[in-house]
Amino acid sequence: MNWNNILSNNMIPDILVTKLESALDQTIESQRRVSGGSINQAAKITLPGDRSCFLKWNTTADPSMFFVEEKGLQLLDAADTGLFIPGVLATGETENGIGFLVQEFIKEGRAQNNSAEIFGQELAALHKNQHEQFGLDHDNYIGRLPQSNKKHQSWIDFFIKERMKPQLKMATDSGKLGTTTVSHFQSMYKQLPDIFPEEQASLLHGDLWGGNYFYDQNGRPTIYDPAVYYGHREIELAFTHLFGGFSGAFYDAYNEAYPLQPNFNQRKDIYNLYPLLVHTNLFGSSYAQQVKGIVQQF
Ligand code: ADP
Repeated sequence: MNWNNILSNNMIPDILVTKLESALDQTIESQRRVSGGSINQAAKITLPGDRSCFLKWNTTADPSMFFVEEKGLQLLDAADTGLFIPGVLATGETENGIGFLVQEFIKEGRAQNNSAEIFGQELAALHKNQHEQFGLDHDNYIGRLPQSNKKHQSWIDFFIKERMKPQLKMATDSGKLGTTTVSHFQSMYKQLPDIFPEEQASLLHGDLWGGNYFYDQNGRPTIYDPAVYYGHREIELAFTHLFGGFSGAFYDAYNEAYPLQPNFNQRKDIYNLYPLLVHTNLFGSSYAQQVKGIVQQF
């Protein structure tokens, strides 16, 4: 949390305050807007007894986004890996369609000596929660875009049909990518059986980059804002590398606890086509260039 970015003159909408007070059955004693993520608006609210909560809301997105986020957080919590998941106090929707989620407020701290190592071990423990099929019993969202979790026996089918194709269609429909890129994707699909090693489906956070975890004031790895499903764990590891990467101690500990199959580095970019397509659809053309750069080899 960057407290320098507090937005003081921009309050929580009154209708949302009223709804929150009835959902929490408590008075909101104070509120401070804080810089949220790239998708939602966020605030720190204080309840009686000096209890701080983290609130995020969205006036335009489908309010079900927050219900499925809560389900995802529950799945991660139930996996009981040691990873700290801030508890959810309420999710809901105002009469005019503002969706919201309230979590306990966790103060960001700093990594202690072994925090990154513990994070690596705990993520490996999460990935050891496995399932016979890829997907999930419900769909959810990646950012504010719908994410289909229709189940498949094969990772390659899941990756192509539920991850590549919907995002690629969105990008071509909006003119961000063209037919040449689509034909590169099609030839890549044919080669995937030689590229992806077979593994069981692992429970994934689903959106694990540097902005979706921090260490709390005791140095505990804390994760939030998931897009949970059962998938190939390499897609999760690949995404951690996309925007700068996590610490070496994190990767060493992960690999010791649950070694990756050889040559993972050569597959990373292909997995990262998913977040890059999502970023192309959410934020635009510089990401489209990165997508093209990866698929043009096919
Ligand atoms: P978005 O859905 O808009 O991406 P996030 O859930 O990622 O929003 O939250 C935005 C930022 O708020 C995070 O990067 C983190 O710094 C902070 N944050 C998230 N959850 C909490 C929490 N429970 N307590 C305190 N700060 C939080």
